[in-house]
Amino acid sequence: MATSRGHESIDDDASDARPRDLPPANVDIARIEKAVREILLAVGENPDREGLLKTPNRVARAYAELMAGLPIDPREHLKTVFRERYDEVVLLRDIEFHSLCEHHLLPFTGKAHVAYLPDGKVVGLSKLARLVEGYARRPQVQERLTTQIADALMEELNPIGAACVIEATHTCMTIRGAKKHGSTMVTSALRGIFKENPSSRAEILSLMHFSNGMKV
Ligand code: ZN
Repeated sequence: MATSRGHESIDDDASDARPRDLPPANVDIARIEKAVREILLAVGENPDREGLLKTPNRVARAYAELMAGLPIDPREHLKTVFRERYDEVVLLRDIEFHSLCEHHLLPFTGKAHVAYLPDGKVVGLSKLARLVEGYARRPQVQERLTTQIADALMEELNPIGAACVIEATHTCMTIRGAKKHGSTMVTSALRGIFKENPSSRAEILSLMHFSNGMKV
């Protein structure tokens, strides 16, 4: 967006909308601003030049959004359950998420596929998306994100099985280091019957459009 020199309208506040359902984390904005200013100085930039003046504040507010899952316990989303005699798989596929690699503080984004085979306790589908969101919005690694989601389902709903498969692209891989453009990392956490029973495992993976760990 090009605007006139030195004008406040350069501010990109419109892009700073809150993530759905999550208030920004209670971060120390002033402290992040100071740190970002230090980074700019460290790379030889002039943080007082016009284009960078508001950058520390923008970055601080962006981090508040990206960390919005930190103050919450995502398991809370699984506390409201329905008692249903439904004994078929519940699957929510293609849950988009944005997280932050805790090794580089660079984004990794992708899709989570979350399923469980209920044993009397069922939750609303939107709760599965919020579960993913809550664990994604914090410094993370994809492996832990995957197991946290599956374990939360197992422990809160006591289902016959739970499964989480995540496919994500890591910018710390694609824009630096190995520069593996377009590479996707796939992680899975299978619990209960999906871990123990080969045909249940094959069924859930094919419902998620995977076969032997490969996308189909
Ligand atoms: Zn990384």
